[in-house]
Amino acid sequence: MNTRGKRKPAYPENHSGETGYLFQNGGAEGCHTVILAAHFGEVLDGPCGHCSGCQGGTDAAPARAAVDIPDKLREPLKALLAEKGEVLDTDRAITRLLCGISSPRLSRARLGQHPLFGALAEVPFARVEAQVAEWLGGW
Ligand SMILES: [Zn+2]
Repeated sequence: MNTRGKRKPAYPENHSGETGYLFQNGGAEGCHTVILAAHFGEVLDGPCGHCSGCQGGTDAAPARAAVDIPDKLREPLKALLAEKGEVLDTDRAITRLLCGISSPRLSRARLGQHPLFGALAEVPFARVEAQVAEWLGGW
């Protein structure tokens, strides 16, 4: 039989997005070079010893540090709720304020100028909402 012209390519086309996904989701553990080689069907003798996976895989840590919610926001927020409780009547309304997302109600209450407005703009909405729920549960 004739197999000429049917040779498989060395690696699939458009593979870059796929390997990016590999490293972002659980691929940080272990040697990246070994993982990448395995992805293309190769088996290496062992870890390379110099990629971030071999050296502790700390490349994701700075992103996590950036979403810290300072506990010092707690007291000013409590004071604001005592004053504007009729506007900030749900976890979601409070979260919108902290994330800097305006709404007609927040604007009417002039909360767009409040120091707490947008105080947590860098933090993901769902994380802020979870923190707000925790704070309110403790008050
Ligand atoms: Zn390595």
